[in-house]
Amino acid sequence: MTRTTIDFGIDLGTTNSAIAVLRGTVTDIVKNNEDQDITPSAVYLDKRGQSQTGVRAKNRLLDEKAEDDVYVEFKRRMGTAHEYRFKCAGRMMKPEDLSAEILKELRGNVQQRLGEDLQSAVITVPAAFEQKQCAASKLAAEQAGLLQCPLVQEPVAAALAYGFQAELTKAYWLIYDFGGGTFDAAVMKAEDGIITVVNHGGDNYLGGSDIDWAIMEQIVLPELQCNYNLPDLSRDNKKWRTALARIKWAVEVAKIQLSRREAVYLEDCRIKDADGEEIELDFKLTRDVLIRVAEPIIVRSIDICSRVLKEKSLSPAAIERVILVGGPTLANYFRDILSSRLGIPLDFSVDPMTVVARGAAVFAGTQRREGASVPNATAGQYQIDLKYKPVGADEDPTIRGTVSSASEDSVAGFTIEFVNEHTHWRSGKISLKENGGFKTNLLAEKGCKNTFAIKLLDGTGRSQAIVPDNLSYTIGLAISEQPIIHSIAVALANNETEVFFKKGEPLPAKAKRIMRSSHAVKKGSGEHILNVPVVEGEVELADRNRLVGKLIISGTQVRRDVPAGSEVEVTLHMDASRILTAKAYIPILDEEFEAKIDPNTASPDPINMQREYEAEIERLEGLRETADQAEDGKATEALDEVDGGNTIEAIESLLRTAGADPDAAHMAEKQLLDIKIRLDRAENALRWPALVAEAIQKLEELDKLNDEHGTPESKLKADSLRVQVEEIIEQKRAEPLRRKIEQAMDASRQILFEQDGFWLGFFNHLQEIREALNDQVTADRLINQGSQFIERGNIQGLRNVVGQLLSLVPQEEAEAIQRGYQSGLLK
Ligand code: ADP
Ligand code: MG
Repeated sequence: MTRTTIDFGIDLGTTNSAIAVLRGTVTDIVKNNEDQDITPSAVYLDKRGQSQTGVRAKNRLLDEKAEDDVYVEFKRRMGTAHEYRFKCAGRMMKPEDLSAEILKELRGNVQQRLGEDLQSAVITVPAAFEQKQCAASKLAAEQAGLLQCPLVQEPVAAALAYGFQAELTKAYWLIYDFGGGTFDAAVMKAEDGIITVVNHGGDNYLGGSDIDWAIMEQIVLPELQCNYNLPDLSRDNKKWRTALARIKWAVEVAKIQLSRREAVYLEDCRIKDADGEEIELDFKLTRDVLIRVAEPIIVRSIDICSRVLKEKSLSPAAIERVILVGGPTLANYFRDILSSRLGIPLDFSVDPMTVVARGAAVFAGTQRREGASVPNATAGQYQIDLKYKPVGADEDPTIRGTVSSASEDSVAGFTIEFVNEHTHWRSGKISLKENGGFKTNLLAEKGCKNTFAIKLLDGTGRSQAIVPDNLSYTIGLAISEQPIIHSIAVALANNETEVFFKKGEPLPAKAKRIMRSSHAVKKGSGEHILNVPVVEGEVELADRNRLVGKLIISGTQVRRDVPAGSEVEVTLHMDASRILTAKAYIPILDEEFEAKIDPNTASPDPINMQREYEAEIERLEGLRETADQAEDGKATEALDEVDGGNTIEAIESLLRTAGADPDAAHMAEKQLLDIKIRLDRAENALRWPALVAEAIQKLEELDKLNDEHGTPESKLKADSLRVQVEEIIEQKRAEPLRRKIEQAMDASRQILFEQDGFWLGFFNHLQEIREALNDQVTADRLINQGSQFIERGNIQGLRNVVGQLLSLVPQEEAEAIQRGYQSGLLK
């Protein structure tokens, strides 16, 4: 019987992956060749380019000769331009290529265990995954030969694994997923048979591997340096790669053993010292030490949980349970820390290592197979196109559909009937409409997957072949549309953002905005480009959000010049799997430009980051001084947040490692952005009184101009501006206030522009700087002309001349477009 729903769910994990299948209402894990539930996400290539995955690949990490032939944790680099160099095979592979290898392995397991050719599966991604990472995950699935692969967020999957057949009451859960390399916290609500993500937070760079590295850097490496001949052994020294891999391996094994034991020795850990002598490391690790090192890392995750709850004004008491996901949550000490600090009952009754794959399979049961993965009717057969939800709270779900003939025969007089194979309930014969359409209700039984056979009879009552010939429906918790994780906006040239989708809106989503180009694009010039930068985040300043990608329109692509100020219609579309497409339509060209937001943007540049970091530290010191002088408690607090803890140390260590380790580079990028935002906050707090004073002053200037030269409209405008400014001052919002100051200045300028004296003054100023103007011959001619207009009292003529002279002022364009990720757009 052909499957009508996807039914298979894959947890494509940073450290481990797993695949599960839904059978009725229970999920089974499809075991791998080693008879294990989980497969390490590791890929090895031999010299013929043949790949090995899973445990056998992971074991190669310990083989000095294979150190450039095996890679792990590549999920952390999904969506970056990083390429892995496989030395023996002489091949470069991207993170998604490696993920594709894991998916192929899992497909193979299905073939072997179930004899089925896996063509579609649901794949999970962390809730903290951004655009580029989702797009890369899709690409991996395509490469592995999966024809259909909806993505679902890991916390959603976990909740489904727990809640699928639960009693349908209203409850909040916190999904706590601490994996090998990523952390996710999600608050879920189950109500009236529907699960929704109420809020979530996470960190793409927080997981069990950070605990391993912390043990290494704080405990093991310093001591090894003392006791052995290993002078420059450190994380950022490439020379020690194999040695570090071996020590980390042993440390991880020890950490896992410490979940059950009080103390252990590093197991079987041999490395070569500085003289090339093989040494066996003798090192004892105790649980107390492990807890001391791990606790601050666990606390980081708990802080995220608290924030996620606080953002929705939920107290811990409102949360029914915390569902544990991920290997590290198997340890008792880990659970103790969580339980005492969170104060919410923990639930780990579904294995934390496979719960995500199981939930993904549950979700897969709600996804109908479509497109290329669905068999097509051949000549003489009939095709049925069904519209219904395969899982829902209804006992008598509505189902619609259309029947068509593969040979385009008429379906006049045909009837269709649905038969529940388990209960033998029948829908009765339903007559098809002329176009083959029909609508009816089914009757399903609780607690099992209901399969309905589909029977098609022609006008004479003869049975006809129909594809597919069955459908399935289960009464259970369905999941509402998946929300948008971070707001998506287009950056503007003035570093503001134009928000297209807000965090929490349902997917898929589409929005169109009409904007203007901030500068001209010359036909044929590769130097003239119009950038449409798409950013992800909730911060008002565009460059404080993450750049997701850019739609770039170059002068070489346009048929004629696009002057500054031309209309640009920007459309963003995000599909259900969070893949983003950007389009820009330029009416004066009647042309549309499109970009799939490319997952392969480059890794952050360590040198640039170092420079930015130093600038931020300087800013921090300056602000600290001002804050001390001003005795501003709020600003001092904000600065302490940056300075306090080990943020500075952490980022410095990351920057040192960034050149050699792209993971560290990405973490540094994230933390740098974080520091910038915090400093902005402190700066805003400090500059607030000055900013308010400036706003008031600009409004007064505007009033004065209005008194002298204003029109009723300009006075009305000033009044409304004043009301807005007062409101913003009340709300203490620095960025909008800055914008209002600009607007007040613009309004003043506008009044001035109407005054003859202004143009005279402007002309005189341009005359003074005539030497600096671009084209001296034209400048001389225009200045002559201007002087004549003044003599004749032709102010309109003078205005024209000033306008033309202005275009000769050397443009500090470079400076003007530095911010807002070089955006070429304005509102
Ligand atoms: P991912 O979701 O990133 O694939 P997993 O959920 O498979 O990660 O967790 C992998 C992490 O769990 C590793 O850091 C591993 O060391 C850790 N881990 C696995 N088992 C245990 C255990 N029993 N005690 C502590 N940590 C464990
Ligand atoms: Mg996981």
